[in-house]
Amino acid sequence: MEHFQILAKDKKSKARIGKLKTAHGTIETPFFMPVATNAAARYITQEQLQETKTEAIICNGFMLSLKPGLEIIKEFGGIHKFMNWDKIIFTDSGGFQMLSERFLKGTTEHGIHFRSPFDARTHFVTPEKAIQIQNALGADCIMALDFVPEYREDKAYIAKAVKQTHAWAEKCIAAHTNKKQLLFGITQGGIYPDLRKQSAKFINKVDFAGVAIGGLCIGESKEKMFQMVDVSIPLLDEEKPRYLMGVGSPRDLIEAVAHGIDIFDSCFPTRTGRHGNILTTRGNYDITKAKWQYSKLPLDEQCACFVCKKYTRAYIHHLFKVEEATGLMLVSYHNIWLIQDLMQKIRKAIKEGKFEKLRKEFSR
Ligand SMILES: [Zn+2]
Repeated sequence: MEHFQILAKDKKSKARIGKLKTAHGTIETPFFMPVATNAAARYITQEQLQETKTEAIICNGFMLSLKPGLEIIKEFGGIHKFMNWDKIIFTDSGGFQMLSERFLKGTTEHGIHFRSPFDARTHFVTPEKAIQIQNALGADCIMALDFVPEYREDKAYIAKAVKQTHAWAEKCIAAHTNKKQLLFGITQGGIYPDLRKQSAKFINKVDFAGVAIGGLCIGESKEKMFQMVDVSIPLLDEEKPRYLMGVGSPRDLIEAVAHGIDIFDSCFPTRTGRHGNILTTRGNYDITKAKWQYSKLPLDEQCACFVCKKYTRAYIHHLFKVEEATGLMLVSYHNIWLIQDLMQKIRKAIKEGKFEKLRKEFSR
């Protein structure tokens, strides 16, 4: 495909290096995107994201259409200028908000009724509307509207979600007018291999710039998640970028890359960080535990981020105990840095033919 090229492949796994070309630059895959739902990644500035080598983020089109609203963002020349981020932006369509009772009011074959979290108003999001919103925001890569069921739903309901997602996929393609933006389709199918296969085949056949595997990493077991990835990947064209939505823990990232995924997003590093969970090259720990009260160690001795160069565990432990927002900022920065550093190591290892070694080291 014109916008995506595969540069190298790992010999032992399905891992690969690619190049995704967008209106705001070219990015090497596999890559990870921090989540900036409301045009901010929470407790970390855009300048700091750049320091962590973040090259792409994902915002939420539906949320931004509620606040500040499309008129204001258009007035500033689009989402990039409004939020001062001149690198790559993805926007999600809003389908994912179906999983939240706070948002979901109901669905019809034409779209989703959402409740605004800001006031009592309801909004009907159709596939066409989801695309119009994202066209107006001007992100580089945009997502089709999908019907996202809980993985626990019965098979008949998941089959309905797949059917609905497919019908909406075609409507999204027809509604997409801003051709500078790459439109990705999303597959569904819960934890049912036959539905996953059906969805991967269908979405792959539609003229999307990339394919996302949706509706995973929402509470099902890791085993099921990778099983669903494995049944989907062989049905997707090699030359289309593949995006696994919602995955962002170090172990899952390495494994998913090995299973053939190119793109990731997750609020995991920042959300878990705000609960005091510190990601390190050797596993996680809880900074709120009393055992760190006197610790002069950095958050991670192997990490080169400014937090690890300048602050101790004791200090950050203290900030968490007195609920100072600075603690949340320092940990969010470190956790995103660590994930982006891991992605760089993954890409380097694939290029040098050492990915399997990195994968093994990591699982230890
Ligand atoms: Zn660090």
